[in-house]
Amino acid sequence: MSFQNPVFIPGPTNIPESLRKACDMPTIDHRSPLFGQILHPARDGVRKVLKSEQAEVFIFPSTGTGGWETALTNTLSAGDKILAARNGMFSHRWIDMCQRHGLDVQVVETPWGHGLPADRYEEILTADTGHQIKAVLATHNETATGVKSDIAAVRGALDAAGHPAMLFVDGVSSIASMDFRMDEWGVDVAVTGSQKGFMLTAGLAIVGFSPKAMAATKTAKLPRTFFDVHDMAKGYANNAYPYTPAVGLLNGLNEACRMLLDEGLENVFARHTRIAEGVRAAVDAWGLELCAADPSVYSDTVSAIRTPDGFNATDIVTHAAEKYGVAFGVGLGEVAGKVFRIGHLGSLTDVMALSGIATAEMCMVDLGLDIKLGSGVAAAQEYYRGHGIEVQKDAA
Ligand SMILES: *Cc1c(COP(=O)(O)O)cnc(C)c1O
Repeated sequence: MSFQNPVFIPGPTNIPESLRKACDMPTIDHRSPLFGQILHPARDGVRKVLKSEQAEVFIFPSTGTGGWETALTNTLSAGDKILAARNGMFSHRWIDMCQRHGLDVQVVETPWGHGLPADRYEEILTADTGHQIKAVLATHNETATGVKSDIAAVRGALDAAGHPAMLFVDGVSSIASMDFRMDEWGVDVAVTGSQKGFMLTAGLAIVGFSPKAMAATKTAKLPRTFFDVHDMAKGYANNAYPYTPAVGLLNGLNEACRMLLDEGLENVFARHTRIAEGVRAAVDAWGLELCAADPSVYSDTVSAIRTPDGFNATDIVTHAAEKYGVAFGVGLGEVAGKVFRIGHLGSLTDVMALSGIATAEMCMVDLGLDIKLGSGVAAAQEYYRGHGIEVQKDAA
């Protein structure tokens, strides 16, 4: 099978050549000052991508899931009350992790395809006059359903209720691709990984802790060793880790931040919006619907596309892999078999997106769906023609 084709899964994403090279480096002593020259700029770069002045950034050899665990175990104690909404597979898994750690989660069941219900959060927080709720969880972008949520509105709910709970945000499929404002939104722990917006292989859990979250670590009693942020901070003070860091990936992360900041975060976000709009124009031309309930929650990093009743959407993914060597995402959990997903985040251009749209179209026609070959491609082409970017003159 050819590996020339881009992938259209919502992570891991396509790796730019420059990042592949940045990860490929000889062994260095990870307890030498040389390592600090990789580590500290990477942490500074992440802080900028988070739009934070004050976050403590920690980077573990792990994945986004390890970032969830870092957030919980460093700031909470068994029995602590947590508020979370379940609107897809990823929010579900984070809730499950809370429960396995002995946290008492109040779950707001939310229809898959809808965003987080900030108004319900506000009611519940307002009613919690004794401030039993210690943390509110928010999945910024539900990768299973292609739904983004309004984190500023969740912050607004906390503020309106005058509630001191911490706000933990899963930004695994949004950070570095969609606008994320850690300080402005009062996010206490931001969680992401290396293999989505940062365009690297999986292998790093990346978290930002606010001063309030750092203060909570002093009293939190959940057991933690590998993910202990104080051990990590002590290591960083000596240009080191409490164990062996993933040096090549950290070098890649440093370079990834440089790329993102060179392009300009606002340009990165605009590129994701534009590419996503083209995909959505194609979906519309196919006569299909997104899982996302309305335009205010459309994700700019992944589209989950509903197929007609009686059709197994997973067949499209299998067929695309077998016949065309192209990867799309399957439906997960409640929407398994009902949707397939086009991931459109990371290192991607309009032209690459067109190839994914064209391939999805071929698959659907091959499998007998009533779709006109070229219809989605044409709709996306029209969109991209009318919303062109200026190709960077200094592009390498
Ligand atoms: C991918 C993803 C995760 C899980 O991250 P891993 O790196 O696979 O552990 C968590 N949350 C969201 C929203 C994701 O998209």
